[in-house]
Amino acid sequence: MMVAALGEGGECRGEEMARYIGPSCRLCRRVGEKLMLKGERCSTPKCPVERRNIAPRRRFPRQRKISDRGLQLREKQKVRFSYGVLERQFRGLFAKAETAPGITGENLLILLERRLDNVAYRLGFGDSRSQARQIVRHGHILLNGRKTNIPSCLVESGDVIAWRQASMKTEYYKALVEKIDVAIRPPWLSLDKEKMEGTILALPGRDDIDAKFDAKTVVEYYSR
Ligand code: SF4
Repeated sequence: MMVAALGEGGECRGEEMARYIGPSCRLCRRVGEKLMLKGERCSTPKCPVERRNIAPRRRFPRQRKISDRGLQLREKQKVRFSYGVLERQFRGLFAKAETAPGITGENLLILLERRLDNVAYRLGFGDSRSQARQIVRHGHILLNGRKTNIPSCLVESGDVIAWRQASMKTEYYKALVEKIDVAIRPPWLSLDKEKMEGTILALPGRDDIDAKFDAKTVVEYYSR
């Protein structure tokens, strides 16, 4: 019931085209945590957070205790940066989560999980969410047989995500087919490796939410 209230169809009518174009690692350094925004590189010793976890424009680690408000802001930024969503979009999703039945924080994370760029990432079509977003933006993806280049589009249960015929001729696609692993999928998604076609088996639920996010703290940030 809650799932239906979180958006039924008609969720793909455009989004603001602006996006963060600065260095991804800077965002991790700002929140002081690895947000895994750059795919494989994040698991190597080259990760700046591994090497020197200091916020940008600081030469030494912060000594001062962070206020409750600061912690709330950091948690909110952690979620927002991880999903690559701008503040305005994030607020919009929060408003939607607030009005839906259930727990606002969980609703918010479920909505973020349902974004088409996130689904493409979860299916393994991109190494990171930003790469998956680019694949969607460049029109390589079909949603229920229709070309859809809107990363913020919210998927529904039963939706099918596939590659456009023309995109299957690209070098990227050919390399992807070789390396994609069918085993690494959240339970609400399935992937037919032969067709490179993903299906939304069910909408993500409370158990599918990433445990590294403290949704309650994000809600507190906006509830002031
Ligand atoms: Fe974050 Fe990945 Fe950059 Fe490390 S390499 S700082 S985890 S984006």
